[in-house]
Amino acid sequence: MGTPRDSTQAQAEVVVDRLEDEYPDSTISLRYSNRLELLIAVILSAQCTDERVNKETKHLFEKYDGPEDYANADQDELAEDLNSITYYNSKAGYIKSSCKTILEDHDGEVPDTMDELIELSGVGRKTANVVLQHGHDIVEGIVVDTHVQRLSRRLGLTEEEYPERIEEDLMGIVPEESWQEFTHLCIDHGRAVCTAQNPDCGDCVLADVCPSEKGDGEIDLASGDPW
Ligand code: SF4
Repeated sequence: MGTPRDSTQAQAEVVVDRLEDEYPDSTISLRYSNRLELLIAVILSAQCTDERVNKETKHLFEKYDGPEDYANADQDELAEDLNSITYYNSKAGYIKSSCKTILEDHDGEVPDTMDELIELSGVGRKTANVVLQHGHDIVEGIVVDTHVQRLSRRLGLTEEEYPERIEEDLMGIVPEESWQEFTHLCIDHGRAVCTAQNPDCGDCVLADVCPSEKGDGEIDLASGDPW
């Protein structure tokens, strides 16, 4: 078990510093070339890997171009075009409905406020934050996905369980200029080292400050269960 810094703020700072050194090019891994493609890719990425989404959007973005194409698409055909993605039927419906709203209420443009984005079908705070950050350069919060959720708890940055509460805690301790980067650093570290089932604490740059470190630690603070 590592020894965390005295305050969660200091702990957050050391986490950001170390992970920045480890993953200097950390950024979003979804592929897109405009805001609508970003929105669609993020909707598709819910409970699906970015790798699979990128594979599927390659042909999707060639076939459909702009909100009209999605809004007017036959929903079954759109779903078939997404059939390697988890929950593709529901996601096809979200995309079609969101594009209708974008056409009817936003002049065909992806909105740039949290309130308007979360009105779109299939868009929650997490998706909206990603679209604001990467589509509009507006950073209003911290994207909390499964990696951020797991690492923040393991590292003692929060004891909350649900993403919106975790985000509130993190916004209070992560330096604001690092809000966007924090997510990508956690994702990179969560994929490479601090995996869900078998984190490689022996090869982790945060081991000395991590209260979940497996050395002689007994508890995975992400789950609250013994290792
Ligand atoms: S890999 Fe181990 S030491 Fe590193 S952050 Fe995850 S639980 Fe902590």
